[in-house]
Amino acid sequence: MAGWVRNDTRGVTIEAEADASALAAFLAVLPQELPPLASISRLDVTPLAPSGASGFVILDSAADVARRAQIPADACVCSDCLRELSDPADRRFRYPFINCTNCGPRFTIVTGIPYDRPQTTMAGFSMCPVCLAEYHDPASRRFHAQPNACPVCGPQLTLVDPHGAPLPGDPLGESLRMLAQGAIVAVKGLGGYHLAVDAGNPAAVRELRRRKRRDEKPFAVMAADLEAVEQFATVSPAEARLLAGVERPIVLLNKLADFLLAEEVAPRNRVIGVMLPYTPLHHLLLERDFLALVMTSGNFADEPIVFRDEEARLRLKEVADVFLGHNRPIHSRADDSVARVLGDRALLLRRSRGFVPRAVALAEELPPVLAVGAELKNTVCLLRGDRAFLGPHVGDLQNVETYAACTTAIGQLRDLLETTPVAVAHDLHPDYLSTRYALEVSGLPLIGVQHHHAHLASCLAEHGVTSPAIGVIFDGLGYGSDGSLWGGEFLVGDLRSCERVGHFRYVALPGGDLAARQPWRMALSYLQDSYDGDLPESACLAEVPEDELRLVHQALAKGINAPLASSCGRLFDAVAALLGVRTVASFEGQAAMELEMLADPEAKAPLRFALKLTDGQLVFDPRPLIRALLEARRRGVGAAELSGRFHATLAELVRQVCLVVRARRGLTTVALSGGVFQNALLTTLVRERLQGAGFTVLSHSLVPPNDGGLSLGQAVVAGWRLRKGR
Ligand code: ZN
Ligand code: ZN
Ligand code: FE
Repeated sequence: MAGWVRNDTRGVTIEAEADASALAAFLAVLPQELPPLASISRLDVTPLAPSGASGFVILDSAADVARRAQIPADACVCSDCLRELSDPADRRFRYPFINCTNCGPRFTIVTGIPYDRPQTTMAGFSMCPVCLAEYHDPASRRFHAQPNACPVCGPQLTLVDPHGAPLPGDPLGESLRMLAQGAIVAVKGLGGYHLAVDAGNPAAVRELRRRKRRDEKPFAVMAADLEAVEQFATVSPAEARLLAGVERPIVLLNKLADFLLAEEVAPRNRVIGVMLPYTPLHHLLLERDFLALVMTSGNFADEPIVFRDEEARLRLKEVADVFLGHNRPIHSRADDSVARVLGDRALLLRRSRGFVPRAVALAEELPPVLAVGAELKNTVCLLRGDRAFLGPHVGDLQNVETYAACTTAIGQLRDLLETTPVAVAHDLHPDYLSTRYALEVSGLPLIGVQHHHAHLASCLAEHGVTSPAIGVIFDGLGYGSDGSLWGGEFLVGDLRSCERVGHFRYVALPGGDLAARQPWRMALSYLQDSYDGDLPESACLAEVPEDELRLVHQALAKGINAPLASSCGRLFDAVAALLGVRTVASFEGQAAMELEMLADPEAKAPLRFALKLTDGQLVFDPRPLIRALLEARRRGVGAAELSGRFHATLAELVRQVCLVVRARRGLTTVALSGGVFQNALLTTLVRERLQGAGFTVLSHSLVPPNDGGLSLGQAVVAGWRLRKGR
């Protein structure tokens, strides 16, 4: 075959000349024999007249092309490098910074564009002659591998105490010895510091919880390989693929009944977050001594992961006993991504390291818009051409540290993409720090996007759908266009506009924000609503101190600090409390998660509920459902069965609403979004019922359904409004 290949503004162009059967064979194998980090988003084939060319050459790409090329995401160490890592004859034997063109750090070390060594945090290391020869050899796996390094010329490990004083001995060996004794070791990774302890040592894990001031939220663990994971969790083929993918997210797996790790790792939880090693250092840490290490983000609750060495020692000095670091700086923070498997597909719950800054392909070119996300699980998004770039996970924008992380992420995206936004899209909630940034700091024209419309648009954009759809948006709370709090919403809309066609009945949130942390408050509120104040006995309220209960009763009666909301997430909380799952949560969504885990998936008979047309809106009235749950409880029906039937009830509700909307509007596509759709059981049940009724169902996969995916929706809606004129 003759011709050439070149990077250009459209991607990669190949001109190939050969007889028809050779060309057909080439096209057939191309998608299957891609380099490990390549992916094809679209393949266009155009026939050309033969030119009689001979030979095949790689043409240089133009400079402007290099600038517009995407910065790659960080990738786990590849199998070739791993082989060298464990080969005593190799010059990189046990070298913790081994990498090649197929693997290694990317986004987190890039300081500018184009992506070239001087524009990375490897700029300070000059390659030795051997590394340089590899770098310039087209036949080498390290041809133009920007972070290329070896023990002679590259970064080195360091081990220091919390005061920054170097400790004697081999940093890796010393760390392993200390971990084996139950110490807490801060380990510098790709996008930040982890706190590591032996996951099989209950006392060590307890101590980490105490020092990190983390009550019950599960810790993620890292195990050497799939075989090790299978000793404490079940792994389906789809889960194995996700675990072993180059992105190496944390994958939520079901624990084995005989759980070999310390119970303190994920107390009272059927699920455990697991990842496989992704840096050579991780492999060296796990090669022999531990079934798994807890590897939790180096931060305090609600603060962003620390990634600079000084900052790490300062902020983590009370938590970590020692710091296993190195002298290759991290430029951009990137927390671990989190995913679960839904059906056979990945569902990202947090899209960060390994995925950032990969773009989401849009159906059309849009103006460059910056979107600043919501409050919880904040991410930002910047559009360039027909691509949307989501930044790394920032966290909950509730303190100065996360706010600073958010503004840093905005600056980095603008720099990396060399794109100056023409407008900023923001949530309608006036108190979100992201909204305040847009209004007071950005200096850009403002485009407010309603929270649930942004969720709908995020799902449509992920699927490249530009036509109108029915949006079933179930989440915690978002600011509605009528000024009240929404969260159980039925919308009809597209990427530009939408209208509300139905919603959950408004119920008071006693104590406002407190209601999300104390599910018993929601239980009380729903009970009061369902029984007209004539409250039945409920076991879940028996645990609540008398005076607190009385205060909440009064607040509800007088409507003090009890804003109304149509939230689906809070209904999950209430049901979780009523079924005895939990009355107090240590993090938002915990009760709902446990309700899902408890459910018997075979209990598929819906319970009673009401759907009424009120002022043109389809209003879901959960009062018959609450009463049915309580009656069944009293008859002794088990919580697992009732949880299953509660899920089935919501699925049936969605089907009925969509049937009405289809009859009126003729729409047959349904988009599912909002944080509640992190729930795999609900998503599966809703999907089954809708598909059974002939609907096309769109749900998230690579963009989170929760507020972590919101900035994508905001950006796209704003882009469409700008383009088509408001
Ligand atoms: Zn490699
Ligand atoms: Zn070298
Ligand atoms: Fe939301």
